[in-house]
Amino acid sequence: MNPKCPLCFKKASLKHIVQSYRYYFCNSCTTLFLNPIPPSKTIHDYYQKDFSYSAGIVNEKLIRTRSQIILNKLMRLNPQGSKLLDIGSGYGFFLDEAQKKGLKITGIEPSKELIKHTVTATPIINDRFPTNKLRNKKFDFITLVHIIEHVKNPKEIIRQALLLLNPQGILYIETPNIDSHLYRYEKENYTFLTPPDHLWIFSQYSLEKIIPKRYQILKISTYSYPEHFMGTLKALVNKNKTNRQIDRLIINKDKLNSKQKVNPIKLFKYIIFDLVLARLCYRILNIHQHGSILELYIKKK
Ligand SMILES: [Zn+2]
Repeated sequence: MNPKCPLCFKKASLKHIVQSYRYYFCNSCTTLFLNPIPPSKTIHDYYQKDFSYSAGIVNEKLIRTRSQIILNKLMRLNPQGSKLLDIGSGYGFFLDEAQKKGLKITGIEPSKELIKHTVTATPIINDRFPTNKLRNKKFDFITLVHIIEHVKNPKEIIRQALLLLNPQGILYIETPNIDSHLYRYEKENYTFLTPPDHLWIFSQYSLEKIIPKRYQILKISTYSYPEHFMGTLKALVNKNKTNRQIDRLIINKDKLNSKQKVNPIKLFKYIIFDLVLARLCYRILNIHQHGSILELYIKKK
């Protein structure tokens, strides 16, 4: 029997099976969710062993640039704000950028491995959120960047985060967008369909539904990376090809850095499409809020 949507309790239908994990889609609130949610131990073991988040280090420059954009917006929305909490702070690039802008930073990160490599001079709290260690603390800015799609109860995490905001405080949320060109064309090969860590993929509509009524969304928009343009384009071009055929067509970035021989035609395609075309065109994905990633700024009414 198909499960009910945990957010709106309407019946959901099976959409994708990825490595035996089942993703269901709720037509009513347009959320994609993993069911059954793997036992805590499986998820915990996964984060301890398999979850290296190598993308974090590889994309340091990109993350820092994005961080500056987010921080500038946050500081414009609350010019008096000075204290920032980043939930799931990872390697700490975001916090490091915040500190450079003169903000007083606090980070919380459950992974010991990531904490070991944190770049910030300020110590990070090694714990899950919510935690007693933040009791009686208040912040002017709180950020949940690619966190809510990983947690069992995103609504509760958002509620708990909002409780830590000062009266003029802003909560920033960033998470993959199901209502995106990337999902529409990549389908079961969708970049963010990565069980068991991604338990939810929200839409603007479903995310708005889980924000408590006494808070308002100041700004909601979407953005995409050049890779997402390529993902969409490749999915479009390779509509009838299998995954393996697509893999063979896509040039592996690591290969470029290694001494292995690269097919010159593939290299030419990589330069024209991935490096030139994608960087020129990726912003068109964001038209009408269909970009790959949702971003929200939330404040008390
Ligand atoms: Zn629903």
